[in-house]
Amino acid sequence: MTTSRDIISLTDQVSARNYRPLPIVIARAEGVWVWDVEGKRYMDMLSAYSALNQGHCHPRIVQALKDQADKVTLTSRAFHNEQLGPFLAELLAMCRQELALPMNSGAEAIETAVKAARKWGYQIKGIAADRATIIVCEGNFHGRTTTAVSMSSEPQYREGFGPFTPGFTIIPYGDADALAAAIDENTAAFLVEPIQGESGVIVPPDGYLTAVREICTDRNVLLMVDEIQTGLARTGKLFACDHEGVRPDVLVVGKALSGGILPVSAVASRRDVLGVFEPGDHGSTFAGSPLACAVARAALAVIRDENLADRAAELGEHFRGELLKLDSPLVAEVRGKGLLNAVELKPDAPKTARQCCEHLMAEGMLCKETHDNVIRFAPPLVIAPADLDWALGRIAAVLA
Ligand SMILES: *Cc1c(COP(=O)(O)O)cnc(C)c1O
Repeated sequence: MTTSRDIISLTDQVSARNYRPLPIVIARAEGVWVWDVEGKRYMDMLSAYSALNQGHCHPRIVQALKDQADKVTLTSRAFHNEQLGPFLAELLAMCRQELALPMNSGAEAIETAVKAARKWGYQIKGIAADRATIIVCEGNFHGRTTTAVSMSSEPQYREGFGPFTPGFTIIPYGDADALAAAIDENTAAFLVEPIQGESGVIVPPDGYLTAVREICTDRNVLLMVDEIQTGLARTGKLFACDHEGVRPDVLVVGKALSGGILPVSAVASRRDVLGVFEPGDHGSTFAGSPLACAVARAALAVIRDENLADRAAELGEHFRGELLKLDSPLVAEVRGKGLLNAVELKPDAPKTARQCCEHLMAEGMLCKETHDNVIRFAPPLVIAPADLDWALGRIAAVLA
Protein backbone atom coordinates (compact mmCIF):
# COMPACT_ATOMS: atom_id res chain seq x y z
CA MET A 1 0.00 0.00 0.00
CA THR A 2 1.15 3.52 -0.69
CA THR A 3 1.84 5.22 2.64
CA SER A 4 1.26 8.83 3.67
CA ARG A 5 5.04 9.25 3.66
CA ASP A 6 5.29 8.15 -0.02
CA ILE A 7 2.50 10.44 -1.08
CA ILE A 8 3.96 13.44 0.74
CA SER A 9 7.36 12.75 -0.77
CA LEU A 10 5.94 12.59 -4.31
CA THR A 11 3.84 15.70 -3.76
CA ASP A 12 6.84 17.62 -2.45
CA GLN A 13 8.81 16.71 -5.58
CA VAL A 14 6.22 17.85 -8.12
CA SER A 15 4.11 20.52 -6.42
CA ALA A 16 5.06 24.19 -6.28
CA ARG A 17 5.75 25.10 -2.67
CA ASN A 18 3.13 27.80 -2.27
CA TYR A 19 1.70 26.03 0.82
CA ARG A 20 3.24 24.34 3.86
CA PRO A 21 0.67 21.66 4.73
CA LEU A 22 0.68 19.66 7.94
CA PRO A 23 2.06 16.16 7.26
CA ILE A 24 -1.28 14.38 6.88
CA VAL A 25 -2.77 12.83 3.73
CA ILE A 26 -6.56 12.86 3.88
CA ALA A 27 -8.13 9.96 2.03
CA ARG A 28 -11.75 10.12 3.18
CA ALA A 29 -14.07 12.46 5.03
CA GLU A 30 -17.55 12.66 6.51
CA GLY A 31 -19.12 15.51 8.49
CA VAL A 32 -16.51 16.88 10.90
CA TRP A 33 -14.19 13.87 10.59
CA VAL A 34 -11.43 12.97 8.12
CA TRP A 35 -9.33 9.80 7.83
CA ASP A 36 -5.75 9.57 6.62
CA VAL A 37 -4.33 6.93 4.29
CA GLU A 38 -3.48 4.69 7.27
CA GLY A 39 -7.03 4.95 8.61
CA LYS A 40 -6.36 7.28 11.56
CA ARG A 41 -9.26 9.63 12.29
CA TYR A 42 -8.97 13.38 12.88
CA MET A 43 -11.44 16.16 13.56
CA ASP A 44 -11.35 18.94 10.95
CA MET A 45 -11.15 22.25 12.83
CA LEU A 46 -10.32 24.32 9.75
CA SER A 47 -13.19 23.38 7.41
CA ALA A 48 -11.10 24.35 4.37
CA TYR A 49 -11.01 27.95 5.59
CA SER A 50 -14.82 27.88 6.15
CA ALA A 51 -15.73 26.32 2.79
CA LEU A 52 -17.08 23.27 4.63
CA ASN A 53 -19.68 24.89 6.89
CA GLN A 54 -22.11 22.07 5.96
CA GLY A 55 -19.49 19.40 6.80
CA HIS A 56 -17.57 17.08 4.50
CA CYS A 57 -19.51 15.22 1.81
CA HIS A 58 -22.94 16.30 3.02
CA PRO A 59 -25.23 13.59 1.58
CA ARG A 60 -27.83 16.04 0.30
CA ILE A 61 -25.25 18.14 -1.55
CA VAL A 62 -23.42 15.09 -2.92
CA GLN A 63 -26.77 13.76 -4.19
CA ALA A 64 -27.46 17.06 -5.97
CA LEU A 65 -24.00 16.79 -7.57
CA LYS A 66 -24.64 13.25 -8.79
CA ASP A 67 -28.15 13.97 -10.06
CA GLN A 68 -27.03 17.01 -12.04
CA ALA A 69 -23.85 15.28 -13.30
CA ASP A 70 -26.04 12.68 -14.99
CA LYS A 71 -28.02 15.37 -16.83
CA VAL A 72 -25.77 18.23 -17.97
CA THR A 73 -22.70 19.75 -16.30
CA LEU A 74 -21.67 22.72 -18.42
CA THR A 75 -23.49 24.84 -20.95
CA SER A 76 -21.37 28.00 -20.81
CA ARG A 77 -23.26 31.26 -20.56
CA ALA A 78 -23.66 31.26 -24.33
CA PHE A 79 -26.85 29.30 -23.58
CA HIS A 80 -29.31 29.18 -20.70
CA ASN A 81 -29.50 26.34 -18.21
CA GLU A 82 -32.28 25.32 -15.81
CA GLN A 83 -30.29 25.87 -12.61
CA LEU A 84 -28.83 29.38 -12.84
CA GLY A 85 -32.04 31.39 -12.43
CA PRO A 86 -33.35 29.42 -9.43
CA PHE A 87 -29.89 29.48 -7.78
CA LEU A 88 -29.51 33.25 -8.06
CA ALA A 89 -33.13 33.83 -6.96
CA GLU A 90 -32.59 31.69 -3.85
CA LEU A 91 -29.28 33.42 -3.05
CA LEU A 92 -30.79 36.90 -3.49
CA ALA A 93 -33.71 36.03 -1.20
CA MET A 94 -31.23 35.00 1.50
CA CYS A 95 -29.08 38.13 1.25
CA ARG A 96 -31.79 40.69 0.43
CA GLN A 97 -30.07 41.92 -2.75
CA GLU A 98 -31.43 42.54 -6.25
CA LEU A 99 -29.00 41.26 -8.89
CA ALA A 100 -26.34 38.56 -8.79
CA LEU A 101 -23.44 37.38 -10.90
CA PRO A 102 -21.91 33.91 -10.43
CA MET A 103 -18.17 33.25 -10.45
CA ASN A 104 -15.94 30.36 -9.37
CA SER A 105 -13.30 31.34 -6.81
CA GLY A 106 -13.53 34.01 -4.17
CA ALA A 107 -10.75 36.02 -5.79
CA GLU A 108 -12.69 36.11 -9.07
CA ALA A 109 -15.77 37.37 -7.28
CA ILE A 110 -13.66 40.13 -5.70
CA GLU A 111 -12.31 41.03 -9.17
CA THR A 112 -15.91 41.18 -10.37
CA ALA A 113 -16.89 43.48 -7.50
CA VAL A 114 -13.92 45.76 -8.24
CA LYS A 115 -14.87 45.98 -11.93
CA ALA A 116 -18.53 46.64 -11.10
CA ALA A 117 -17.60 49.36 -8.58
CA ARG A 118 -15.30 51.09 -11.05
CA LYS A 119 -17.86 51.05 -13.86
CA TRP A 120 -20.57 52.21 -11.44
CA GLY A 121 -18.22 55.02 -10.40
CA TYR A 122 -17.89 56.26 -13.97
CA GLN A 123 -21.41 55.63 -15.26
CA ILE A 124 -23.59 56.38 -12.24
CA LYS A 125 -21.51 58.49 -9.86
CA GLY A 126 -19.76 60.46 -12.61
CA ILE A 127 -16.11 59.98 -11.62
CA ALA A 128 -13.65 61.21 -14.30
CA ALA A 129 -12.31 58.47 -16.60
CA ASP A 130 -9.71 56.14 -15.04
CA ARG A 131 -9.70 58.03 -11.72
CA ALA A 132 -11.89 55.74 -9.60
CA THR A 133 -10.42 54.53 -6.32
CA ILE A 134 -11.53 51.86 -3.87
CA ILE A 135 -10.75 52.14 -0.16
CA VAL A 136 -9.65 48.94 1.60
CA CYS A 137 -8.39 48.07 5.09
CA GLU A 138 -5.01 47.27 6.53
CA GLY A 139 -4.71 43.54 7.15
CA ASN A 140 -7.31 42.69 4.50
CA PHE A 141 -7.43 39.42 2.62
CA HIS A 142 -9.36 39.41 -0.65
CA GLY A 143 -7.53 36.65 -2.54
CA ARG A 144 -4.34 36.06 -4.47
CA THR A 145 -4.83 37.51 -7.96
CA THR A 146 -2.67 40.43 -9.02
CA THR A 147 -5.46 42.89 -8.26
CA ALA A 148 -6.26 41.27 -4.90
CA VAL A 149 -2.62 41.47 -3.77
CA SER A 150 -2.46 45.02 -5.11
CA MET A 151 -4.81 46.01 -2.27
CA SER A 152 -2.99 43.97 0.35
CA SER A 153 -0.85 45.42 3.15
CA GLU A 154 0.88 42.07 3.77
CA PRO A 155 4.47 42.20 2.44
CA GLN A 156 4.68 38.45 1.71
CA TYR A 157 1.55 38.51 -0.44
CA ARG A 158 3.15 41.21 -2.64
CA GLU A 159 6.91 40.69 -2.71
CA GLY A 160 8.09 39.78 -6.18
CA PHE A 161 4.67 40.25 -7.80
CA GLY A 162 4.68 43.91 -8.85
CA PRO A 163 3.83 46.07 -10.71
CA PHE A 164 0.46 46.34 -9.01
CA THR A 165 -3.03 47.44 -10.02
CA PRO A 166 -3.42 51.11 -9.05
CA GLY A 167 -6.51 52.69 -7.53
CA PHE A 168 -6.56 51.38 -3.95
CA THR A 169 -6.26 53.38 -0.72
CA ILE A 170 -5.49 51.52 2.50
CA ILE A 171 -6.91 52.74 5.83
CA PRO A 172 -6.80 51.21 9.35
CA TYR A 173 -9.38 48.46 10.03
CA GLY A 174 -12.13 49.10 12.53
CA ASP A 175 -11.81 52.90 12.31
CA ALA A 176 -14.87 54.57 10.79
CA ASP A 177 -13.36 58.07 11.13
CA ALA A 178 -10.45 56.97 8.94
CA LEU A 179 -12.97 56.02 6.24
CA ALA A 180 -14.72 59.39 6.43
CA ALA A 181 -11.34 61.14 6.13
CA ALA A 182 -10.16 59.02 3.18
CA ILE A 183 -13.18 59.51 0.91
CA ASP A 184 -12.83 62.03 -1.92
CA GLU A 185 -14.63 62.74 -5.19
CA ASN A 186 -12.93 59.77 -6.89
CA THR A 187 -13.94 57.20 -4.29
CA ALA A 188 -16.22 54.58 -5.85
CA ALA A 189 -16.35 52.04 -3.04
CA PHE A 190 -15.21 50.83 0.36
CA LEU A 191 -14.37 47.10 0.43
CA VAL A 192 -14.28 45.50 3.89
CA GLU A 193 -14.46 42.16 5.71
CA PRO A 194 -16.90 42.12 8.68
CA ILE A 195 -14.26 40.07 10.55
CA GLN A 196 -10.75 39.75 9.13
CA GLY A 197 -10.29 35.98 8.93
CA GLU A 198 -6.85 35.53 7.37
CA SER A 199 -5.47 38.40 9.41
CA GLY A 200 -6.13 36.32 12.56
CA VAL A 201 -9.88 36.59 13.22
CA ILE A 202 -9.80 40.32 13.93
CA VAL A 203 -13.22 41.46 15.20
CA PRO A 204 -13.86 45.21 14.73
CA PRO A 205 -15.52 47.31 17.49
CA ASP A 206 -19.31 46.99 17.86
CA GLY A 207 -21.05 49.55 15.69
CA TYR A 208 -18.28 49.66 13.07
CA LEU A 209 -20.40 48.32 10.21
CA THR A 210 -23.30 50.57 11.16
CA ALA A 211 -20.97 53.58 11.14
CA VAL A 212 -19.36 52.76 7.77
CA ARG A 213 -22.83 52.08 6.31
CA GLU A 214 -23.91 55.58 7.31
CA ILE A 215 -20.74 57.19 5.92
CA CYS A 216 -21.00 55.35 2.60
CA THR A 217 -24.67 56.35 2.22
CA ASP A 218 -23.93 60.02 3.05
CA ARG A 219 -20.99 60.23 0.65
CA ASN A 220 -22.44 58.16 -2.23
CA VAL A 221 -19.78 55.46 -1.90
CA LEU A 222 -20.61 51.77 -2.38
CA LEU A 223 -20.26 49.61 0.72
CA MET A 224 -18.85 46.32 -0.56
CA VAL A 225 -18.61 43.57 2.04
CA ASP A 226 -16.40 40.52 1.53
CA GLU A 227 -18.32 37.72 3.28
CA ILE A 228 -16.45 34.93 1.51
CA GLN A 229 -15.28 33.58 4.88
CA THR A 230 -17.74 35.14 7.34
CA GLY A 231 -20.92 34.55 5.34
CA LEU A 232 -23.33 31.62 5.13
CA ALA A 233 -23.85 31.06 8.85
CA ARG A 234 -20.21 30.89 10.02
CA THR A 235 -20.45 33.73 12.55
CA GLY A 236 -23.86 32.86 13.96
CA LYS A 237 -25.96 34.83 11.47
CA LEU A 238 -26.55 34.09 7.81
CA PHE A 239 -24.18 36.97 7.05
CA ALA A 240 -21.89 38.71 9.53
CA CYS A 241 -23.43 42.07 8.49
CA ASP A 242 -26.71 40.84 9.96
CA HIS A 243 -25.28 41.18 13.48
CA GLU A 244 -25.72 44.95 13.01
CA GLY A 245 -28.65 44.77 10.59
CA VAL A 246 -26.46 46.33 7.89
CA ARG A 247 -27.30 45.78 4.25
CA PRO A 248 -24.30 46.37 1.98
CA ASP A 249 -24.58 47.66 -1.59
CA VAL A 250 -22.42 44.78 -2.80
CA LEU A 251 -22.03 41.43 -1.05
CA VAL A 252 -19.32 38.93 -2.07
CA VAL A 253 -19.75 35.24 -1.18
CA GLY A 254 -17.84 32.06 -1.96
CA LYS A 255 -16.33 29.18 0.01
CA ALA A 256 -19.35 27.51 1.74
CA LEU A 257 -21.61 28.52 -1.17
CA SER A 258 -21.01 25.01 -2.56
CA GLY A 259 -20.50 23.22 0.76
CA GLY A 260 -16.90 22.56 -0.23
CA ILE A 261 -17.76 20.55 -3.33
CA LEU A 262 -16.92 22.86 -6.22
CA PRO A 263 -15.53 26.37 -6.51
CA VAL A 264 -18.66 28.55 -6.53
CA SER A 265 -18.69 32.24 -5.69
CA ALA A 266 -21.03 35.13 -6.41
CA VAL A 267 -21.45 38.86 -6.22
CA ALA A 268 -24.87 40.13 -5.18
CA SER A 269 -25.80 43.80 -5.26
CA ARG A 270 -28.27 46.60 -5.55
CA ARG A 271 -29.77 46.69 -9.05
CA ASP A 272 -27.80 49.77 -10.18
CA VAL A 273 -24.39 48.25 -9.37
CA LEU A 274 -24.25 44.91 -11.21
CA GLY A 275 -26.70 46.60 -13.57
CA VAL A 276 -23.72 48.38 -15.19
CA PHE A 277 -22.56 45.16 -16.86
CA GLU A 278 -23.59 44.67 -20.47
CA PRO A 279 -23.16 41.59 -22.66
CA GLY A 280 -19.46 41.13 -23.33
CA ASP A 281 -18.23 43.20 -20.35
CA HIS A 282 -17.32 40.28 -18.12
CA GLY A 283 -17.56 36.51 -17.95
CA SER A 284 -16.13 33.10 -17.14
CA THR A 285 -16.45 29.79 -18.97
CA PHE A 286 -17.37 27.70 -15.94
CA ALA A 287 -19.22 30.26 -13.79
CA GLY A 288 -22.94 29.61 -13.45
CA SER A 289 -22.66 26.07 -14.80
CA PRO A 290 -25.70 23.88 -14.13
CA LEU A 291 -23.49 21.58 -12.02
CA ALA A 292 -22.20 24.44 -9.85
CA CYS A 293 -25.67 25.97 -9.49
CA ALA A 294 -27.35 22.67 -8.56
CA VAL A 295 -24.69 22.04 -5.92
CA ALA A 296 -24.96 25.59 -4.57
CA ARG A 297 -28.77 25.35 -4.32
CA ALA A 298 -28.40 22.22 -2.18
CA ALA A 299 -25.65 23.88 -0.11
CA LEU A 300 -27.91 26.88 0.62
CA ALA A 301 -30.84 24.58 1.43
CA VAL A 302 -28.73 22.73 4.01
CA ILE A 303 -27.71 26.01 5.69
CA ARG A 304 -31.39 26.99 5.93
CA ASP A 305 -32.97 23.63 6.78
CA GLU A 306 -30.37 22.62 9.38
CA ASN A 307 -30.43 26.06 11.06
CA LEU A 308 -26.67 26.32 10.78
CA ALA A 309 -26.59 30.00 11.76
CA ASP A 310 -28.34 29.36 15.08
CA ARG A 311 -26.15 26.32 15.72
CA ALA A 312 -23.01 28.39 15.10
CA ALA A 313 -24.25 31.11 17.47
CA GLU A 314 -25.03 28.72 20.33
CA LEU A 315 -22.03 26.43 19.94
CA GLY A 316 -19.70 29.39 19.45
CA GLU A 317 -20.86 30.99 22.69
CA HIS A 318 -20.16 27.74 24.55
CA PHE A 319 -16.80 27.22 22.81
CA ARG A 320 -15.44 30.68 23.64
CA GLY A 321 -16.73 30.40 27.21
CA GLU A 322 -14.86 27.13 27.72
CA LEU A 323 -11.68 28.48 26.07
CA LEU A 324 -11.73 31.46 28.43
CA LYS A 325 -12.03 29.10 31.40
CA LEU A 326 -8.83 27.28 30.38
CA ASP A 327 -6.70 29.92 32.02
CA SER A 328 -3.73 28.76 29.94
CA PRO A 329 -0.30 30.30 30.52
CA LEU A 330 0.14 30.43 26.70
CA VAL A 331 -2.99 32.35 25.75
CA ALA A 332 -3.07 36.13 25.33
CA GLU A 333 -6.59 36.41 23.90
CA VAL A 334 -9.63 34.40 22.80
CA ARG A 335 -11.78 36.09 20.16
CA GLY A 336 -14.34 35.43 17.46
CA LYS A 337 -18.03 35.22 16.63
CA GLY A 338 -20.15 32.13 16.13
CA LEU A 339 -17.86 29.30 15.12
CA LEU A 340 -15.13 31.54 13.68
CA ASN A 341 -12.74 31.78 16.61
CA ALA A 342 -9.08 32.16 17.36
CA VAL A 343 -6.63 31.95 20.21
CA GLU A 344 -3.76 34.41 20.16
CA LEU A 345 -0.65 33.18 21.95
CA LYS A 346 1.44 35.40 24.21
CA PRO A 347 4.53 36.84 22.51
CA ASP A 348 6.80 34.91 24.91
CA ALA A 349 4.81 31.64 24.76
CA PRO A 350 7.14 28.62 24.77
CA LYS A 351 5.32 27.14 21.73
CA THR A 352 4.57 28.73 18.37
CA ALA A 353 1.12 28.45 16.81
CA ARG A 354 2.57 26.02 14.28
CA GLN A 355 3.91 23.79 17.07
CA CYS A 356 0.51 23.87 18.79
CA CYS A 357 -1.10 22.77 15.50
CA GLU A 358 1.39 19.90 15.25
CA HIS A 359 0.56 18.84 18.81
CA LEU A 360 -3.17 19.11 18.12
CA MET A 361 -2.69 16.90 15.08
CA ALA A 362 -1.01 14.28 17.25
CA GLU A 363 -4.12 14.53 19.48
CA GLY A 364 -6.36 13.90 16.45
CA MET A 365 -7.39 17.44 15.58
CA LEU A 366 -6.55 19.44 12.44
CA CYS A 367 -6.03 23.19 12.81
CA LYS A 368 -3.99 25.76 10.96
CA GLU A 369 -2.02 28.67 12.32
CA THR A 370 -2.51 32.15 10.86
CA HIS A 371 0.66 34.19 11.18
CA ASP A 372 3.08 33.06 13.90
CA ASN A 373 0.95 33.45 16.99
CA VAL A 374 -2.72 32.78 16.16
CA ILE A 375 -4.58 29.45 15.97
CA ARG A 376 -7.94 29.54 14.23
CA PHE A 377 -10.74 27.19 15.29
CA ALA A 378 -13.48 26.86 12.67
CA PRO A 379 -15.17 23.45 12.69
CA PRO A 380 -17.97 22.52 10.29
CA LEU A 381 -21.18 24.07 11.67
CA VAL A 382 -22.87 20.66 11.76
CA ILE A 383 -20.57 19.64 14.63
CA ALA A 384 -22.34 17.81 17.49
CA PRO A 385 -22.03 19.45 20.95
CA ALA A 386 -20.29 16.32 22.30
CA ASP A 387 -17.71 16.48 19.50
CA LEU A 388 -17.06 20.14 20.24
CA ASP A 389 -16.46 19.24 23.88
CA TRP A 390 -14.05 16.51 22.77
CA ALA A 391 -12.21 19.20 20.76
CA LEU A 392 -12.08 21.47 23.82
CA GLY A 393 -10.44 18.62 25.73
CA ARG A 394 -7.72 18.27 23.09
CA ILE A 395 -7.17 22.04 23.02
CA ALA A 396 -6.93 22.14 26.82
CA ALA A 397 -4.31 19.36 26.72
CA VAL A 398 -2.15 21.19 24.18
CA LEU A 399 -2.46 24.69 25.67
CA ALA A 400 -2.00 23.59 29.29
C1 LIG B 1 -10.71 32.85 1.01
C2 LIG B 1 -11.03 34.29 0.88
C3 LIG B 1 -10.95 34.95 -0.36
C4 LIG B 1 -10.44 34.28 -1.61
O1 LIG B 1 -11.19 33.17 -2.00
P1 LIG B 1 -10.53 32.08 -3.00
O2 LIG B 1 -11.67 31.16 -3.31
O3 LIG B 1 -9.43 31.42 -2.24
O4 LIG B 1 -10.04 32.82 -4.19
C5 LIG B 1 -11.31 36.28 -0.41
N1 LIG B 1 -11.73 36.94 0.70
C6 LIG B 1 -11.81 36.34 1.90
C7 LIG B 1 -12.31 37.11 3.08
C8 LIG B 1 -11.45 35.01 2.04
O5 LIG B 1 -11.50 34.43 3.24
